[in-house]
Amino acid sequence: MSSEDQPANNVTSPLRDGDTSIQETTCCIVGAGPAGAMLALLLARQGVSVLLLEAHKDFEREYRADTLHPYILETLEELGLADALHRIRHTKIRQMTAMTPTGPMLLYDFGRLKTRYPYFTIMPQAHFLEFLTTEASRYPNFQLVMGARVEHLIEHKGIIAGVRYRGTDGMHEVQAELTIGADGRFSRVRSLAQLASLKLAPPIDLLWFKLPSEPGDDQEEGAQLYFGAGRFLVALYRYAYWQVGYGFLKGGYQELKASGVDSLRLQVGTLAPRFAEKMHILTDWKQVSLLSIEASRLVRWYRPGLLLIGDAAHVMTPIGGVGINLAVQDAVVAANILGEPLRHGSLQTRHLVAIQRQREIPTRILQWNQQMIQKRIQKNRGQADQPSRPPFMGRLIRILPLIRNLPAYLTAYGVFPPRMKAATRAHCIASRRRGVRGRTVPMRW
Ligand SMILES: Cc1cc2nc3c(=O)[nH]c(=O)nc-3n(C[C@H](O)[C@H](O)[C@H](O)COP(=O)(O)OP(=O)(O)OC[C@H]3O[C@@H](n4cnc5c(N)ncnc54)[C@H](O)[C@@H]3O)c2cc1C
Repeated sequence: MSSEDQPANNVTSPLRDGDTSIQETTCCIVGAGPAGAMLALLLARQGVSVLLLEAHKDFEREYRADTLHPYILETLEELGLADALHRIRHTKIRQMTAMTPTGPMLLYDFGRLKTRYPYFTIMPQAHFLEFLTTEASRYPNFQLVMGARVEHLIEHKGIIAGVRYRGTDGMHEVQAELTIGADGRFSRVRSLAQLASLKLAPPIDLLWFKLPSEPGDDQEEGAQLYFGAGRFLVALYRYAYWQVGYGFLKGGYQELKASGVDSLRLQVGTLAPRFAEKMHILTDWKQVSLLSIEASRLVRWYRPGLLLIGDAAHVMTPIGGVGINLAVQDAVVAANILGEPLRHGSLQTRHLVAIQRQREIPTRILQWNQQMIQKRIQKNRGQADQPSRPPFMGRLIRILPLIRNLPAYLTAYGVFPPRMKAATRAHCIASRRRGVRGRTVPMRW
């Protein structure tokens, strides 16, 4: 079939089986979080027909992380988008210091890295996702559907051939040459595809609540981290308020709740004295959300016609703040490997295998690191009044100045950070200039 004979981008066909519409596309991405939105943009720039489905009607969400690390900022710079991103209101954090009972401890200093962006930004994730999808919308071969909750996978002879989703106006079918599950830690696609997953560490209970901010809460203090015995606290400055996560190992919540909201106020105030005075605002458990966070990783990240990336493939905990970096890196690797075969109809399962192969080791290393920190927190449990020892890496840095930059590097870039292929960037420019419309291209799986 010549490219002129192929159906046009994201074609909608006549209805059947009670569906409101049937649509065809080359790549259907489920979930517009950091992984899905970035991959959609990178594929759209390469001229691939992309349909991005997001369950929620907007990007405003409380339980989202807001950090953008140097890797992401440099990637956006390569795409010519870093300056535009920086025009969105944000806070820059150059150093991360953890408050421990034995005193402040510098975890890392991005100022020591050779980069144009020696900091991480804090900006509401909703703004970042709007930015990526608005940029993708400039390409005629990209389409975003909000309020589209995927409920079924379409399967023909063992090959995933698309999805069915519930939209605001009923059920819709999408026929896709490749389906990407980027639908986060509770991934529906993962469970529908029946992919086996390994549980890695005992779950963490995270209490998530807001505390008021004041004019004195200045920019450089926009991220606060406290370690105590068996617990930790992270606070992110969101201009109008502080978003606080108070974490401890699973099981502690019922006990804490039974002892009343005063106990929570006391515990947080002891661990993070800076917030003690603000805690009076919490008078009811309804002001506090309980999140249970459990790290896991898929054994296999793909099936013919289907690939999982981001938290859908490997659930990250908030520890270390590396989940978004990892999700974006998955998207970069996937775009590097998938762009050309998707355009030319030559995609095979080996391409999906290659993506897992590139991403699995970095993921394992960062998950292992999260587990080590979690174990340390667990070890100190029950010694609420004793100072907890600083994390292993922190102590090592103090002893060996030569590796002082390692934690900063790992937090900024992760492990083996992938670079965007030059060929991918070259295509981006060409497809935008000529305004090439994407085409759905049939694969031979
Ligand atoms: C409380 C908390 C704090 C965190 N803090 C940090 C931090 O500070 N820094 C950091 O780097 N990481 C942090 N993390 C981890 C980080 O949030 C994740 O690793 C990262 O968001 C993963 O990105 P993702 O795109 O894979 O998934 P997500 O961000 O979860 O996005 C998935 C998207 O898929 C959509 N979706 C879900 N189901 C469907 C469906 N059936 N159909 C269509 N769409 C669907 C969701 O609405 C969502 O928009 C934190 C995690 C938690 C829970």
